[in-house]
Amino acid sequence: MAPLALLSTSDKTGLIDLARSLVEEFGFDLISSGGTAKALKEAGLPVTKVADYTGSPEILGGRVKTLHPRIHGGILARGARETTGDGVAPSPEVDQDLTDLANNQIRSIDLVVVNLYPFEQTIAQANVTLAEAIEQIDIGGPAMLRASAKNFTYLTVLCNPSDYDAYLQELRQNGGKTRLEFRQARALQAFLHTAAYDRAISDYLAQQAQTEAGLPEQFAVSGTQIQALRYGENPHQPAAWYQTGTAATGWSSAQKLQGKELSYNNLVDLEAARRIIAEFNDKPAAAILKHTNPCGVALGESLTEAYQKAFAADSVSAFGGIVALNRPIDAATATELTQTFLECVVAPGCEPQAQEILAAKSNLRILVLPELATGPEYTVKAIAGGLLVQASDDAVENPQNWQVVTEKQPTPAQLEELLFAWKVCKHVKSNAIVVTRDRATLGIGAGQMNRVGSVKIALEQAAANTQGAILASDGFFPFDDSVRTAAAAGVAAIVQPGGSLRDKDSIQAANELGLVMVLTGIRHFLH
Ligand code: 5GP
Repeated sequence: MAPLALLSTSDKTGLIDLARSLVEEFGFDLISSGGTAKALKEAGLPVTKVADYTGSPEILGGRVKTLHPRIHGGILARGARETTGDGVAPSPEVDQDLTDLANNQIRSIDLVVVNLYPFEQTIAQANVTLAEAIEQIDIGGPAMLRASAKNFTYLTVLCNPSDYDAYLQELRQNGGKTRLEFRQARALQAFLHTAAYDRAISDYLAQQAQTEAGLPEQFAVSGTQIQALRYGENPHQPAAWYQTGTAATGWSSAQKLQGKELSYNNLVDLEAARRIIAEFNDKPAAAILKHTNPCGVALGESLTEAYQKAFAADSVSAFGGIVALNRPIDAATATELTQTFLECVVAPGCEPQAQEILAAKSNLRILVLPELATGPEYTVKAIAGGLLVQASDDAVENPQNWQVVTEKQPTPAQLEELLFAWKVCKHVKSNAIVVTRDRATLGIGAGQMNRVGSVKIALEQAAANTQGAILASDGFFPFDDSVRTAAAAGVAAIVQPGGSLRDKDSIQAANELGLVMVLTGIRHFLH
């Protein structure tokens, strides 16, 4: 039986020359979809239309042309073809497939030549409508490319006119047959082609969604849009919220029990709050944030106590804050939460009685996120012409690895307090200084351009409470001025990464002033 080629191309470059060689030099029979068959006939070549071969006409304006078992069976059937050069071992699957073909009057296909509807060229034109673009999404073409690429053990797929000559050469050099490696290389090309094609479609649809959200086209992001946001950081900045991965996880799976629509700033702050509260598990904990920096973080024997301590740390800044709690909200904590104006509260649960109490503050957004500790593995930032991606700062704190560098050693209680301060400090924008006592922050210096400036702010906030307090610094001290300022306020122990050229100046000052100093060896810049 003559070998069989299936030709269905949008770009008809090189088609006639290929078909002529297939027929005249190698004795192929040809079958083709409507437009391709017409072109071949006009060139005087013998061809059977797919519709005549299958007995099913092209329908739906060309949406269904080649999607038929006689086509896909002929492609996907296992078993050597006329042009399969390598010895293929007999197997039960091959026998079964050959029986299926015979029972259904299907001829196995040796060669599939397909290139796809010009989707990218179409959307590149000015003023293309969504409907026009959608009509250019090829369905049967990728199905044939993928099917024949999958079955490269037995047949060849060509998706690029520049490969036509190579195919004819392959037949010439191998007595009318093809080698497995040639077929496999073409299969790879086919999958690269369909992958790029689908990517172009998903990018286009993502861009459409973004345009609907009011975002300029150049912000195109591939992915599922969860929500168009009212605006970004400021009202003149269009914004949208996207899902990473295929399933709704993290914030997109959080349950909003009540309150106004979430804003861009809410989500950014909530994520910062989630990261802080994820540090604390053993005891009830509360964190209150403003603009991604904590203004109060505390542990307590109860959730209410933790919240009260966090609130007391800086009750002025807590106004309009974002609260994260590591235990389900109970009635007593709910009552405390309603005492001041807050933007959002997130917790792993909310008891029914607490819900009733919180309902009085109908604008307050209450979110339930059971998996508070599960966050992204990476963070992403846009810069001119690119994106910066880094692993999240998930380093687990291990005080076993800390080094006491002063003559004075920390007490066990101080060590625990140092760990608390250090965990909070990790989540404060650099330069970060955190002063704590009794598992509650007293003062936080955030985002200053010099470290001693952050020390002064933190101590000023802590006011008269600094005698015997603990101080944490996210980066090393470049000079001994921070240590001296802390000591003057009565701070008893300091935790910092170490690593400065002048570490010894800071250690000397600590010894001179009777402080404890511990080096973690790990720094926690946050920008
Ligand atoms: P023709 O010019 O031969 O009528 O059409 C060729 C084009 O149709 C090729 O780009 C091919 O990928 C595409 N095509 C083949 N079969 C189908 C089908 O069943 N549905 C759709 N939407 N496109 C097909």
